[in-house]
Amino acid sequence: MSDKKKPALHRDTLAVREAVERSPYGENSEALYLTSGYVQPSAEAAARRFAGDEEGFTYGRYGNPTVASFEQRLAALEGAEACISTASGMSAILMMCMGLLKAGDHVVCSHSMFGSTIKLIGTDLAKFGVESSFVSQTDVAAWQAAIKPTTRLLFAETPTNPLTEVCDIRALADIAHKAGALLCVDNCFATPALQRPMALGADIVMHSGTKYLDGQGRVMAGALCASQELVTKTFLPVLKSAGMTLAPFNAWVVLKGLETLDIRMQAQSARALALAQWLQDHPAVARVHYPGLASHPQHALAMAQQSGCGGAVLSFEVQAADADQARARAFHVLDALQVMSLSTNLGDTKTLLAHPASTSHGRLTEAQRQAAGVVQGLIRVAVGLEHLDDIQADLQRGLSSF
Ligand SMILES: *Cc1c(COP(=O)(O)O)cnc(C)c1O
Repeated sequence: MSDKKKPALHRDTLAVREAVERSPYGENSEALYLTSGYVQPSAEAAARRFAGDEEGFTYGRYGNPTVASFEQRLAALEGAEACISTASGMSAILMMCMGLLKAGDHVVCSHSMFGSTIKLIGTDLAKFGVESSFVSQTDVAAWQAAIKPTTRLLFAETPTNPLTEVCDIRALADIAHKAGALLCVDNCFATPALQRPMALGADIVMHSGTKYLDGQGRVMAGALCASQELVTKTFLPVLKSAGMTLAPFNAWVVLKGLETLDIRMQAQSARALALAQWLQDHPAVARVHYPGLASHPQHALAMAQQSGCGGAVLSFEVQAADADQARARAFHVLDALQVMSLSTNLGDTKTLLAHPASTSHGRLTEAQRQAAGVVQGLIRVAVGLEHLDDIQADLQRGLSSF
């Protein structure tokens, strides 16, 4: 957990300087504290710490100095009072739902959320009596119409995976607050380098640290940024009892990843825009989804909400006569790759390509997949840091040989 940030520094500075607490050795780089337990100075102090009356670490499931540094730095970048981290992005969502919801409560999400999020909220939580409605990502009126007296949470992701659909964070925050509900935004794709949902009215920002926060495809991590009160009173008790704790080593990796987040997002987004423009003019490509293109349906909103930047993920549909041919052609393009990686992950310096309909969205029913617009010819590209010429040549191999 983190306290509110003190100095008024620029975001670039916070990314490398926030939450640097040096040990007596004076190390310049952040220390990695690998310990599951802590020695207490006295029995009285231990009692106060366990009662929450005194600051101090007690047990690895409840907290760790390296984990706390990551949380404090991410909170600073998101402009949040506090942050609480978890072992993965999905466990951050689970912690949020366990903390906020009870049987009979209702959640509104978009159809286009991350595949596992749809499964968790629509199926797993339903077993415990939590109701959910899935609506269009972009139709503000549909979110409003889905509100019930029991609605406690609106959960949006923008841009979405894999179609990069953009929702209006400010409009959804207004709907949530009028209904007495909270808005959570999954900020995994844009990251605080491009988009800060709390400044637009969101109550909670959720992260998969596995993606751009790490940025080099090494570790799993997750986090929720929110008010100090939500973190301390609603989420921390779940973490303590359910134990979806972030490992200190993973926290250290993502903490260091935050230092280069901004320059990585700028460089990867610039390549993504150039690639999207090239694909848009390619005869073997039917359609490109990228918020930085003027042809994107929410281009203007995306540019206003995302610091004028489309992000590093795009997807495109291959030209095909029907769904079977589309799937075969998409597989052909992916199997022809010699440089880039066929991998369902994203947020790496290595460009990663995936076929969402058979992987990330493979567990969904056909109806859920159709609602999410994940067609058989769709290929997602999470653009990394390779030279643009090499990225294009690698795609051209398959696209030019159907
Ligand atoms: C990967 C991802 C998640 C889940 O995060 P994990 O760290 O894999 O658990 C949630 N939302 C989005 C948008 C993602 O890309």
